Amino acid sequence: MTVDAAPLPDTEVICVSCEACCCRLEVMLITDTGVPDMFIEIDKWGGRSMARLDDGWCSALDRNTMSCMIYEKRPRICRELEMGEYECLSQRAANL
Ligand code: SF4
Ligand code: SF4
Repeated sequence: MTVDAAPLPDTEVICVSCEACCCRLEVMLITDTGVPDMFIEIDKWGGRSMARLDDGWCSALDRNTMSCMIYEKRPRICRELEMGEYECLSQRAANL
């Protein structure tokens, strides 16, 4: 008997083998999740986004652990980005 198996997920695409590639993306703040002001950048039109440092990563990323320092208060966009989805894969392809 032959059983069709569902394709396995790409086990290479996991956050622990990543370098927080998605934390290089521009992250607009569209809801208030309590992000501390020190991590927020405001443009000339009043738009709020996560500030990024010269190395390209979000200012709230711990450079030693490559993890989010404000995980419980991270923006909505960060909460909605899923491992393995388009943005994740395209950032990994561009940065790893
Ligand atoms: S969601 Fe994707 S891009 Fe972001 S840290 Fe995880 S594997 Fe890397
Ligand atoms: S707030 Fe946290 S999860 Fe979102 S981009 Fe910055 S470091 Fe990454």
